[in-house]
Amino acid sequence: MTTPLPAYLTGYPPTLTEPVARLLEQGRLGEALLRKYPQAHEVRTDRALYEYVQGLRGEHLRNAPQPSRIAFDGKLQSVGRALGTHTRIARVQGGKLRTKHEIHIAAVFREAPPEFLRMIVAHELAHLKESAHDKAFYQLCRHIEPDYHQLEFDVRVYLCHLAGGGEVLWPARRADGSV
Ligand SMILES: [Zn+2]
Repeated sequence: MTTPLPAYLTGYPPTLTEPVARLLEQGRLGEALLRKYPQAHEVRTDRALYEYVQGLRGEHLRNAPQPSRIAFDGKLQSVGRALGTHTRIARVQGGKLRTKHEIHIAAVFREAPPEFLRMIVAHELAHLKESAHDKAFYQLCRHIEPDYHQLEFDVRVYLCHLAGGGEVLWPARRADGSV
């Protein structure tokens, strides 16, 4: 028997979760993740995130509504298990009902490999068009990032690593190379 995993992988079949639980127990989960994702991305600021999101939107979802605010959010991860949020704020403007869209990305993705950032941004961009987590929604996620499902699983594996007391695996480095 292996120790139960943090709840991030609830719902995945044991064939997928048992190897993760074993690595976590052996203290080797971080090393396995780093082998698979050796690089960190450089999107560290809200400004850079804004450009990154708009770039992906322009490439894959040009007819989706324009988000009015895009930012990293340090509070997100502790609020339930949301990793990103997409908010629709409806307001009347000039006699018309307009909807403002905001995208917030959990701060854990600021220090992460490019694949993880792309996954969460694909998720939140897909919400610009589909609000429920249904078939159409996941189709859109895969349209933006074909490897979406594997990446979501691996992001959850990383959250298990962090919940188990593991260190941040892709820490931001200062100009002098220190962490
Ligand atoms: Zn969602």
